[in-house]
Amino acid sequence: MKLVWLRNDLRLIDNPALRHACAEEGEVAALFVISPAQWQQHKMAPIRQQFLLAQVDEVGRELAALGIRLHLLHVDTFAELPQALVGLCRELGVSQLYANQAIEIDELRRDRAVSHALAAQGILSHWFNGCCVLPPGRVLTGSGEMFKVFTPFSRAWLKALDQDGFVIHRAPAARGAAVPWVSLLDRGLRAPFEDPLWPVGEAEARRRLQLFLDQAVLDYGNTRDFPAQAGTSTLSPYLAAGIISPRQCLAALQQRLGYRPLSKEQPGFVWLNELIWREFYRHLLVMVPTLSMNLPFKPETTALPWSWDPQAFAAWCEGRTGYPIVDAAMRCLKATGWMHNRLRMIVASFLTKDLHIHWRLGEDYFMSQLIDGDLAANNGGWQWAAGTGADAAPYFRVFNPTTQGQRFDPQGEFIRTWVHELADIPPSLVHQPHEWLRRQGRTDYPAPMVDHAVARVTAIEMFRQLEK
Ligand code: FAD
Repeated sequence: MKLVWLRNDLRLIDNPALRHACAEEGEVAALFVISPAQWQQHKMAPIRQQFLLAQVDEVGRELAALGIRLHLLHVDTFAELPQALVGLCRELGVSQLYANQAIEIDELRRDRAVSHALAAQGILSHWFNGCCVLPPGRVLTGSGEMFKVFTPFSRAWLKALDQDGFVIHRAPAARGAAVPWVSLLDRGLRAPFEDPLWPVGEAEARRRLQLFLDQAVLDYGNTRDFPAQAGTSTLSPYLAAGIISPRQCLAALQQRLGYRPLSKEQPGFVWLNELIWREFYRHLLVMVPTLSMNLPFKPETTALPWSWDPQAFAAWCEGRTGYPIVDAAMRCLKATGWMHNRLRMIVASFLTKDLHIHWRLGEDYFMSQLIDGDLAANNGGWQWAAGTGADAAPYFRVFNPTTQGQRFDPQGEFIRTWVHELADIPPSLVHQPHEWLRRQGRTDYPAPMVDHAVARVTAIEMFRQLEK
């Protein structure tokens, strides 16, 4: 029997491991490992756990209809997995394991340990690239190193894609009579997950993709920075869980446009470039394993005197900074498990450059809340904002939270949705509401917790000292 181990690739279409396992005759089963203590150790948000388990139910049901039984294995941590997996393989009579490669260090170590344990029992493991368009390590500089800057990576990525091409693997055909499937819900292994913002299922992911391509992709360059508009695809939870693959996104984009956009002058390129950013951070995580270990990409920035002030950090987490766009974004994150990209940049800049708090605290907090929590993109985004990462924002570029709000939420629509204390303020005052609130005798919204102009100078000085 062949066993397909599903992880962050919870889909039937374009799943190379599943497709290869089903390439020949013979019995195929699938596996999903539930490891709550490990998830907790990785700060996985409860909403992300629920979303994943609800999707496991979808996949289990669909596989069962094809005659492929999905098994569940419970282990608390990765350390217990090799032995548990050997036991399951013996029980089922598995001779070969199929899986798509992970990219994070703990997962890579886990997979290596599993491979060794299975090999010792004469069971072969086959690994595939399921999480990127091009496999990590494929896009390198002339001297064989990982790019440290995004734009040349993007150019080399497009060139490699042109050389390699790519295929979308079809979903496997039925392998016999359907097998029964008792849902995780019925087994009491998960709570109901019926979030109207994030329905599970491959069909839902494809629907979102198509809607975005039909209605928004051509204008994405103009609308993507405005959180009150539906200018982006909202596919990140689906990509992070592997409910849809980046290759499916690329293929659908090309089909919609009738070409592959290769430069920023071509409509559709800006969105493709975001998919390439995703690849950049994933390749980087594999090539620079210390990124998975809480270390900055630029080692010299370890010496920065970051603050760990718990009170200031709590005010940021809870959306009580007195900066309306920051507070609206943080409250939205807590309520929905998601945040718009422009807002992620603004709040990350605020935490690191206005409050001078260590980016690791922000990274962890995001992980603990996000439905799309993804180590590569999250770490990449935080280190970009903090000025410690590959191709990071230059240290003297500090977002002004007031002007960012004025620019990207000009009518304060987004702010008024999430900061209820400001729901009835005139739009022209929403970004600097304090004088108006004072005149109304209102004390329900906090005063700015720092003076941005002063905090900015301190941040720049912190980095200048480092240079010296
Ligand atoms: P779209 O704009 O439609 O883009 C399409 C897809 O491209 C996204 O779904 C995502 O998979 C990818 N993408 C877009 N922008 C980026 C980017 N800057 N870096 C990497 N991939 C990108 N993204 C995550 O998926 N998980 C995270 O944990 C995460 N944490 C972040 C933390 C910070 C501080 C910052 C600045 C960014 C973070 N991002 C993260 C990237 C980005 O904010 C989200 O991917 C994006 O907001 C998702 O919205 P969308 O699906 O509508 O994206």
